[in-house]
Amino acid sequence: MKQIALTGLKPSGSPHIGNYLGMLKPSLELAEKFQALYFIPDYHALTTVRDRKQLADLTYQAAATWLALGLNPDEGVIYRQSDIPEVFELAWALSCFTTKGLLNRSHAYKAIVDDNIAAGREEDKNINVGLFTYPVLMAADILLFGTHFVPVGLDQQQHLEITRDVALTFNKNYGDVLTIPEAVIRKEVMTIPGIDGRKMSKSYNNVIPIFAPPDQVLKPVKRIVTDSKRPEEPKDPDECNIFAIYRHLADVDAVDAKRKLYLEGGLAYGPMKEELFALLEATFSDKRDRYNALMENLDELDKILEKGAEKARDIARPILAKVRKAVGVSL
Ligand code: AMP
Repeated sequence: MKQIALTGLKPSGSPHIGNYLGMLKPSLELAEKFQALYFIPDYHALTTVRDRKQLADLTYQAAATWLALGLNPDEGVIYRQSDIPEVFELAWALSCFTTKGLLNRSHAYKAIVDDNIAAGREEDKNINVGLFTYPVLMAADILLFGTHFVPVGLDQQQHLEITRDVALTFNKNYGDVLTIPEAVIRKEVMTIPGIDGRKMSKSYNNVIPIFAPPDQVLKPVKRIVTDSKRPEEPKDPDECNIFAIYRHLADVDAVDAKRKLYLEGGLAYGPMKEELFALLEATFSDKRDRYNALMENLDELDKILEKGAEKARDIARPILAKVRKAVGVSL
């Protein structure tokens, strides 16, 4: 049987090129080698999203994103966290093996505490218990499926360490019940720059969206910051924010030719932006159509997600049964 790789996609709105290149594309490639599981942690999002419609919409958007980009639901398993009740039961069991000190040291929790202290507020102000125990629910997401590999960005590395810690503590008490997962740190750790050269991120307002209508893609492309070198001057392609995106989307020969043109002189930024825009359209216009079609047919999306949840629960049930047996609760 193939080993299991699991990826979660936060329901946080329409993706940008940074998400695509840094996370979505690599996650889809996992299905070639592993039994790949893809889920949307919608109950996790309840720690911060308090609008019912918004939470549901964002969850559909995340599912449609993966499917539009080529996830084949007959190969990969795609599901909503909230469709798997076993996750929440396991989370309780795991919480009894998680020391409070371990969660106190979580970077994500500490960052909010630090913000509170810096602003002169009480240190746990506005921190709900869901936010505090977030890593326990994440551990349940992973351990419930006997996951072997979890691809993570550097930001999630510590959460995975917590998962391993909790699983090892559990196994120390009961024997080899839980599979200890390994982090696969996305090694390129390539950070895609946004249109201002800083890391592309919604919080910097510097993103190029992948599923937005063409005019909303063209606008940020035109605003990509460049230096003021004239076309005939030689330029360093590795210093150029247009090339930083172009090189990940164009084919190898085109990238080589472009690199040469930068170095030798003769490249003008205006036409280069137009070329990048054309490349974005060629890469994403079909996918955007598929995304829009899925978002207009939520019944179809629900069906795909429900089918995925059934498959996921088939994997989960025997593992949860092992946990129940190990701890001595009702079978
Ligand atoms: P976020 O919703 O910002 O946490 O992004 C989700 C994931 O997308 C991150 O964990 C990264 O793997 C990836 N990602 C986001 N922004 C970028 C970027 N500018 N460059 C590369 N990868 C990114």
